Amino acid sequence: MSPDEIEKLKQLDRQVVWHPFSQMAEYDGLIIESALGCWLTSVDGQRYLDGASSLWCNIHGHRHPKIDQAIIEQLKQVAHVTGLGMSHPSTIRLAQRLVDLSPKGLNHVFFSSDGASSVEVAMKMAFQYWRQCEKPSTQRDTFLALGDAYHGDTLGTTSVGGVSRFRDLFAPLLFPVLRGPCPNRESRSSNLDVNCAEYLAAYEKILQQEGHRIAAIIVEPLVQAAAGIVFHPRGFLRGISNLANKYNTLLIADEVAVGFGRTGKMFACEHEEVTPDLMCLGKGLTGGYLPMSATLTSSKIWEPFLGEQQAGVAFMYGHTYAGNALSAAAAQATLDLFESENTLLHIERKARLLLDCLHPLCKHPNVGSIRQLGLITAIDFVADRTTQQPFSSSQRFTRNVCRGTLKHGAWLRPLGECLPIIPPLSISESEIEHLAQAILAGVKEATA
Ligand code: PLP
Repeated sequence: MSPDEIEKLKQLDRQVVWHPFSQMAEYDGLIIESALGCWLTSVDGQRYLDGASSLWCNIHGHRHPKIDQAIIEQLKQVAHVTGLGMSHPSTIRLAQRLVDLSPKGLNHVFFSSDGASSVEVAMKMAFQYWRQCEKPSTQRDTFLALGDAYHGDTLGTTSVGGVSRFRDLFAPLLFPVLRGPCPNRESRSSNLDVNCAEYLAAYEKILQQEGHRIAAIIVEPLVQAAAGIVFHPRGFLRGISNLANKYNTLLIADEVAVGFGRTGKMFACEHEEVTPDLMCLGKGLTGGYLPMSATLTSSKIWEPFLGEQQAGVAFMYGHTYAGNALSAAAAQATLDLFESENTLLHIERKARLLLDCLHPLCKHPNVGSIRQLGLITAIDFVADRTTQQPFSSSQRFTRNVCRGTLKHGAWLRPLGECLPIIPPLSISESEIEHLAQAILAGVKEATA
């Protein structure tokens, strides 16, 4: 592409395309022409390691021949048919595989197109469940959500969301929910053995007082990603699941960000042997190729929705592209690769290597903490390491770090003053070293 053409495209990109979560007045993003494995190539020929796996969704790398082939084969059959009154072999087989893979007891799969929709589905299912289950309760009209939760950007998911920069402006449009604390928010450490009982006690108190009104507790299992990669104390998820049982409410586990191997197990719920009543999947489901999400439910949830047509107990919800055949083919190939490439087996070793390579930052005066779970790593930058004083919002330290890493061939995206490092699970050892070197160089430049 000639320099003129590139400049024209960049101008159009700034003027016509309205980018998500972006200040368009100062927008200056990359334009990616192609990608292969963990690498993105921009229109001007620069290569960048995809250190954020295209916003936490790429799993086995870009243009993996097996996923590409699966989509091509599917295209020879059909790209899409509606899920209203018909189905497709790829979608049916994928549903069965998700049931087989997910925590025991989740037997039914409702497909949608993005993570937020899978959460909306779970919330509406939980709400409707209470209106037609064996012992119905019309009082159950709210949800118990976590402090600093993030479940997407539709109005329903923003209502259960608790991150103020995504939520506050829209508050007049949102429905009220009950909210507990964000576990481990303050210490943000990688020490997972702190304060669990205290947090659970706070949730139990809410349930004691308001349990009869709660349709479901909704939780991001183990890691609250958009909150700033906050790791919950060990045992919190199990404790919340026990509380949901004790106070006879439902548990929704939003695995959109943490599912498909990110935490070292296929699903984060497995770490604490929890089977939620409803589980939301998205992002990595198709390996980061195509939009698709899924809400898995237990038979306990499914059964009250069965009845004669006139009974009006069916779930009246759906999206046009739900269960898309191309997405289902990509998702099946993604699951095949977990088996044939033993993806989960290598995560611990790769994670350790990344942490070793980042070791020079451990004592850096602007590094508040470095933490890791599976291949989710995060660095918090602070103005002063000893006092943990945060940067002022105008300092944009982490943005400058990302600018620096870009110059050194790695793409990362800051979350405030937190730097999430979430590469594709297929990242090689030499690529991990490259990624870490780029981060060290980025920090050096931002500090200078
Ligand atoms: N839930 C969680 C935990 C997420 O992190 C996200 C997105 O980052 C979503 C839901 C929303 O997913 P989507 O952006 O596909 O709507």
